[in-house]
Amino acid sequence: MAQLSDDCFAFGGPMQPIDEAAALIASKLSAVEEIETVPLAQADGRVLAKDMRAPLALPPFTNSAVDGYAVRGADLPQTAETAFALAGRVQAGMAPDMSVLSGETIRIFTGAPMPDGADTVFMQEDVRVDGAGSVLLPPGLKRGANVRPAGEDIALGETVLPAGHRMRPQDVALAAALGFADVEVRRRIRVAVFSTGDEIVAPGGMRGPAQLFDSNRFMLMAMLARLGCETMDLGILADDRDLIAGRLSDAASTHDLILTSGGVSTGEADCVRAAVESVGSLVFWRVAIKPGRPVAMGVIRGVPLIGLPGNPVASFVTFVHIARPAILALAGARPQPAIPTAVRAAFSYRKKLGRREYVRASLRATDDGGFEAMKFPREGAGLLSSLVATDGIVELGEQTTRVEPGEIVRFLAYSSLI
Ligand code: AMP
Ligand code: MG
Repeated sequence: MAQLSDDCFAFGGPMQPIDEAAALIASKLSAVEEIETVPLAQADGRVLAKDMRAPLALPPFTNSAVDGYAVRGADLPQTAETAFALAGRVQAGMAPDMSVLSGETIRIFTGAPMPDGADTVFMQEDVRVDGAGSVLLPPGLKRGANVRPAGEDIALGETVLPAGHRMRPQDVALAAALGFADVEVRRRIRVAVFSTGDEIVAPGGMRGPAQLFDSNRFMLMAMLARLGCETMDLGILADDRDLIAGRLSDAASTHDLILTSGGVSTGEADCVRAAVESVGSLVFWRVAIKPGRPVAMGVIRGVPLIGLPGNPVASFVTFVHIARPAILALAGARPQPAIPTAVRAAFSYRKKLGRREYVRASLRATDDGGFEAMKFPREGAGLLSSLVATDGIVELGEQTTRVEPGEIVRFLAYSSLI
């Protein structure tokens, strides 16, 4: 018996589970090999080409963690406040030329090297200074207190950052603290970006009555920039297989990745798949992910192509879950899976077994100190307002079929995805 189905997922044979799609992508990609040296001030977001090892220990010398008074540990008052002779002073940046003898204390400031003999520092708030050149130190301080031993942070020769690490501001700080003025990184990957569709017009252009301004291209270029890619804006292609094939083929000669949106579904005007097949080969084009199902991967003369769906929300979700890992792999970066937060669902939801779904949601603080995810009220994959108004997406795994209010779900904040 013939059946009509309103389920677009029932159409066209098996779909690739997203983890399989990701593994397939990983197996098809190899990282760019060229290495360049960049000044540290430009290193944020770049991918380290080699392990970074510490050419010095941090801190490089044992120093005081506070402003106060340094003494010998053997001298520490045990039961009663005790007077010590004030024998000198050492400030940050000074190499001390004295040593601390028994019964003596030395005025010391945060970051100043510990003088010979001293191993413990009293905070200045805890002592009494008398006018006659002595300082009264209280009992009860532990030996070694308020001192930062050389190497307590980083040991000499330690690998501090592995090859493939994408530099963050704190990593740049560590490189600087170790004295590196520049770092060796992989070159940025070059990504060609196309929109497709007869109905798509560039913002600023003349929009016909049945046309839409192109939003995907700008979203994708913004996300690529955040991932450290060099992006080539190749505009909008009409729904014409031969034209698209020619442009994709050209783009393949000068880019590391081609990213398109639209035209990968099963409509007659969806020409991207056919275009890829005419100049290269298709690896997959249907992934069990919602929103996003029609998402294609192909290879054109060794250059990967990812064809994202046209609906902006589907484009966003598939970029994050399929294009992003591929981009990191091409860039030579280690995988950076998004870190989910466990929150309570404040909604109920039904879904199909066997596909992964992403539900747009906002977070709200709960009385017990946690957070709950509130689902955006509408689900259309074309609703840009749903991406703008929410904080992130709730990930529902292949095995899940329903969610009830109060259940723990995995929330992925947009800020952790891009
Ligand atoms: P398609 O995947 O080509 O079938 O497109 C699906 C939907 O997304 C259609 O309603 C398109 O008009 C819309 N769409 C496709 N490309 C874009 C784009 N670049 N910007 C905004 N909407 C788009
Ligand atoms: Mg289209």
